[in-house]
Amino acid sequence: MAGKKKFYVTTPIYYTNASIHLGGAYTTIAADVLSRWHKLLGEETFFLTGTDEHGQKVQEIAEQNRRKPKEFVDKIVAEFKEAFKLLNISEDNFIRTTDSYHEQEVKDLLNILFKKKLIYKGFYESYYCVGCEQYLTQSDLVDGKCPLHNRIPELKKEEAYMFKLSTFQDKLLKAIKSGKFSILPEVRRKEIVTFIEGGLQDISISRLKEKIYWGIELPFDKNHTAWVWPDALWNYVSGLRHAGKENFRKFWPADVQLMAKDILRVHATIWPALLMGAGYELPRALFVHGYFTINGQKMSKSLGNVISPIYLTKKYGADSVRYYLMRNIPFGNDGDVSEQSLKDRHNNELANKLGNLVSRTAGMCKGKYTKSKLDKELTSKLKFKEISADMENYEFDRALSLIFEYIDECNAYVQMKEPWKLEGKQKQEVLYNLVDSIRVISILLESFIPGTCEKIRGQFGFERADFKKVKFGLTSSGKIEKSEILFKKIE
Ligand SMILES: [Zn+2]
Repeated sequence: MAGKKKFYVTTPIYYTNASIHLGGAYTTIAADVLSRWHKLLGEETFFLTGTDEHGQKVQEIAEQNRRKPKEFVDKIVAEFKEAFKLLNISEDNFIRTTDSYHEQEVKDLLNILFKKKLIYKGFYESYYCVGCEQYLTQSDLVDGKCPLHNRIPELKKEEAYMFKLSTFQDKLLKAIKSGKFSILPEVRRKEIVTFIEGGLQDISISRLKEKIYWGIELPFDKNHTAWVWPDALWNYVSGLRHAGKENFRKFWPADVQLMAKDILRVHATIWPALLMGAGYELPRALFVHGYFTINGQKMSKSLGNVISPIYLTKKYGADSVRYYLMRNIPFGNDGDVSEQSLKDRHNNELANKLGNLVSRTAGMCKGKYTKSKLDKELTSKLKFKEISADMENYEFDRALSLIFEYIDECNAYVQMKEPWKLEGKQKQEVLYNLVDSIRVISILLESFIPGTCEKIRGQFGFERADFKKVKFGLTSSGKIEKSEILFKKIE
């Protein structure tokens, strides 16, 4: 049965030991862009994001702050929600791992795995980095330290429930190599294949409750809480199923799951193994984006160069931040961000190019525009097919750059035709081609800068964005409803 196409996209859920940082905003904006783009394509979409709230790090930091863990995370979660609202994020569910439906789902999962003897009681001894909340192998260490957190991991041996990750090694390799479970970009897929070929070992999935009480209690042993990763990973199932069984059937498996590279390994091993163990289909793709530096330096609290997405959004507006992050760094690569380059793109691209085209055109229309014939000399310059292909390949920066090339063409067209010197039908024609181009541009940019595109539609009286309307000549005669500046220049 050929139903509507569906699209399910997720972000990682964000750990609530600290306030939201730009990296989390970045992943969430990318997921939002994808979700909106697929919705415009006419697909049914589901977009899940949320927060990861259990585990040792939260327990420790809450204790340091003399707060109960739940009180502590409530405050952090409120900040995440504020940031996402400011950034115009349109998620379908914001899951918290402390939500009772999620806790029940994790217990159900663990019960299934326990009954299938994929979980067994044992001991685990290894190097454990509290920063990573992960056991590290000898080969992960640099000079005896976790390279990511620059701290010496603890050598731990304790009673623990173990998950038979090792049994999934061959199946997992097969799923990855066949492309059924794809890992993008290619360089990341290779890394993971090499890692899995090196051998997967069983992992501990519980902690003693006397040590880590801030976690989900194992349904078959009250002395243990679930390790934070299986708890967190299962959100992609529980957060969707919370939307109803029908929705779960419709949207599972995830079409793409976005993440930064530090959490790829768990997503490419433990996560699919849990799914296979419990009898679920695997996600179609994981997409791994890069890290970014701020002014050429690693973002870190100790360097004092952490930029809050809330600060940036309040200062420059949601659309400038969204546009900047998607335009400035090729998705999947590492890159650099700075407030100066954000300001530059805001002024030079959004205000001078897009803002100017819209305000000039609206001004020259003097209240109305009239349907006229198309000028292929202009409209043939929009590379719609390439833009679509770029979006399919997660090349947001290239898609934006092509859309802005067309905006440049439109501005050049104004200079060349000098409509202010024309009259009557000739003038009408030039203006019509500009208005129609703005309409098409506003649909193409909708996923990236939805607030601005809504303003453009309001100014020209366009219908709501729809990809079936990304064709020239569909604008009928109309009125300019109102004029407003889209982007104020920032000095
Ligand atoms: Zn670490």
